[in-house]
Amino acid sequence: MQVAVFSTKSYDRQFLEAENTARGGRHRLVFLEPRLSAETALLADGAQAVCLFVNDQADARTLARLSAQGVGLIALRCAGFNNVDLAAARQLGIRVGRVPAYSPEAVAEHTLAMMLCLNRRIHRAYARVREGNFALEGLLGFDMKGKTVGVIGTGRIGSALLRILSGFGCRLLAYDPQPNPELPAAYVPFATLLAESDIITLHCPLTPGTRHLIDAPAIARMKPGVMLINTSRGAIVDTRAVIEGLKSGRIGLLGLDVYEEEADLFFEDLSDQVIQDDVFARLLTFPNVLITAHQAFFTEEALRAIARATFDNLDAFAEGGVPVHEVSTEKLA
Ligand code: NAD
Repeated sequence: MQVAVFSTKSYDRQFLEAENTARGGRHRLVFLEPRLSAETALLADGAQAVCLFVNDQADARTLARLSAQGVGLIALRCAGFNNVDLAAARQLGIRVGRVPAYSPEAVAEHTLAMMLCLNRRIHRAYARVREGNFALEGLLGFDMKGKTVGVIGTGRIGSALLRILSGFGCRLLAYDPQPNPELPAAYVPFATLLAESDIITLHCPLTPGTRHLIDAPAIARMKPGVMLINTSRGAIVDTRAVIEGLKSGRIGLLGLDVYEEEADLFFEDLSDQVIQDDVFARLLTFPNVLITAHQAFFTEEALRAIARATFDNLDAFAEGGVPVHEVSTEKLA
């Protein structure tokens, strides 16, 4: 098959080409730097499949254009699928495959890195020491042992994180409509988790039901000075409400690997440009906010696993018309 790979970075090319070669070079990969949108869909001309990442937009208009050009498969090289209009894909007969579990540990470990960095103010200490400032004022942290951590969403990533945190001696609370009794956590109602947690971390998917799950009323229920971490999807958090929470001190520490409007910012070097997004620019002014640019997944093991699962989807579609890891429309709920 010919596969148009959108939003290509050097590392995508490296790992996808290596996997294609390892499988005998069955597919012709066309690497494209632009993000997929209705305007760029034409670049997939001649392809039977498109390979997409988190900020490619496969909305109804884009899918209609892809379908008219003969594209029958969306092979997502990520776990989340909120950027694909699944109902439109089904209507057009386009199959959608994803990478369900490439390395939950990669994301869980990055989440932990953000927690420890914020807690012990490593981001500030790093800059200070380089400036010859060895004072400790403003760097006071807390012991993780005995603190209550609330995990929202206990699928692959949330459960990997729970297993890691149990080693720290934390009290672990969880909220998920589908509880897993084998995990070392007490499932509690959403409101209880918000009220009792010293650290709250988000690991549910972005769906119509979880959009702005963390809004002003939810923040008002949290403990004063709570640490909030989002490594899931930006729009699960109402960023403006979070900024108000930071200003009032209700949120004491904030770690974000994802941002509602990240599509115009992340994965690019914009260091020579003026940031036009005032909400994001405001976030950058807080000393107690740590932002990484959607890098939680970014380990060698994860990129290798992503390439493998992507080719499993491509091969199965080429042979039988259905990707191995198909996203079904039931997942919309
Ligand atoms: P998963 O499907 O294994 O688990 C998601 C869990 O969330 C499920 O147990 C589900 O029941 C639960 N859930 C659904 N709705 C909920 C709600 N309203 N409240 C609480 N829980 C709810 O997914 P996963 O592999 O653990 O990934 C979770 C999310 O992490 C993905 O959807 C993706 O958006 C994000 N992610 C981010 C990165 C990154 O680099 N930052 C990488 C991979 C995945």
